[in-house]
Amino acid sequence: MPPAGLLRACRLDPTSSYLPMDALTAFFLSAVMIMLNGAVLGLMHRDLPQSLQPSAFSWRVGTLLQAGGCVLLAVQRSLPTEWVLPLAHAMLLLGLTAYWRALRQFYGFADVVAIGLPFLLGSLGMVWLSAIDPSRTGRILLAAACWSVIVLGCIATLASERARDSANSRRVLMGVFIAVVLAIAISGLVFGLPGEIRALLGNGGWINLIAPVIAAILPVVGTTAFLQLCSERIRRQWEHAASTDHLTGMANRRTMANAGERRVQTARQSARELTVAVIDIDHFKGVNDRFGHEVGDEAIKHVAARIEEACRDTDLCGRQGGEEFVVVFDGIDGEAGLAAGERIRRAVESQPFVIAQSRFQITVSLGLAQLTATDRSLDDLLRRADRALYLAKAGGRNRVEQDRGREHDAGVETKVAAH
Ligand code: GH3
Ligand code: MG
Ligand code: MG
Repeated sequence: MPPAGLLRACRLDPTSSYLPMDALTAFFLSAVMIMLNGAVLGLMHRDLPQSLQPSAFSWRVGTLLQAGGCVLLAVQRSLPTEWVLPLAHAMLLLGLTAYWRALRQFYGFADVVAIGLPFLLGSLGMVWLSAIDPSRTGRILLAAACWSVIVLGCIATLASERARDSANSRRVLMGVFIAVVLAIAISGLVFGLPGEIRALLGNGGWINLIAPVIAAILPVVGTTAFLQLCSERIRRQWEHAASTDHLTGMANRRTMANAGERRVQTARQSARELTVAVIDIDHFKGVNDRFGHEVGDEAIKHVAARIEEACRDTDLCGRQGGEEFVVVFDGIDGEAGLAAGERIRRAVESQPFVIAQSRFQITVSLGLAQLTATDRSLDDLLRRADRALYLAKAGGRNRVEQDRGREHDAGVETKVAAH
């Protein structure tokens, strides 16, 4: 049971069978909802990955400040107006600023002092309009202006990420902020109207409820959308980790098997050309033995980067494991495949691997196989490309060999790229 003082402050009659929902009651209920919401966020905080914790912390601070601001507004009648109102508005503005900061941290923007300006100017203005030259309309208009600037900042931060973050929760959060800025604009406009017109619209009724309703909706719905944004980010990070080779950032074996197989089946059905290359670093064991495993890893990264540079965006490149890579050249026949393979071989040979001020030349051998009518799957193509690779190694390494399939010869006809 809330204390009688608080009920009086909120103008609630404890003997009445129904509770009139005035602005102060609404602020009080908002505060309770926000605090519960903040508590949920607090419980979930530790489960979030390290990279999201600063952003989630700022959001939590924002939520607690919003709750604090709402509590002060709820009990404003039992405290001296000249300090309770500026303090309540300052808390609400700082809370909103913390939300803006949370969004900026979420998307990796550096902290800037400028985002604190609406809070600073708004808070000083509130002191003026509460204690020095009191004006209720002035306070409402100033609060509306400062809230709008911060909320528009949040919208701008979310909108700037539309190309990088396609998550629906980003759009939902933007929608929440847009609804808030529209509600602020409406209440600001209504309060700016002359008294008689305002009275016609029901002054003191629904208009007074706009601020507490915004104060309640934003932290509650916004926090839900923010947590969804976090979980969407985590899901994408997991998906990325599961499909990507951790050392090179290329597609991993699993991704190559799935995406490569899809490309092979599409090419088979539409009678499109397709060539597969298996690439293996020459004498790689020697690199590990001479310089250690860590330098070996750097050499693998170096070769992966050269392969990706030499490929088109439409080629599917991946690390098959160890010091072996696979490329699926879509729409490329045997001749063009040889040229593409030769481009990769040369790209690796021509750029020495530099580590600790030493330069080493690294070379690769490539085995190619062009899709033929007898190939049923990616595995069939990889088997033939492996045979060609074996020949490239046997032929002296740093070379490209191509398996032309059974239809060209009873055995393995190979074609060597000239270099
Ligand atoms: P070849 O020219 O015949 O290919 O000779 P090679 O020495 O490259 O051939 P081999 O396949 O015998 O050796 C591959 C070596 O790659 C063996 C293994 O120690 C090393 N290796 C496999 N995976 C990794 C890795 O992730 N990091 C490092 N540093 N080395 C790896
Ligand atoms: Mg190997
Ligand atoms: Mg090797």
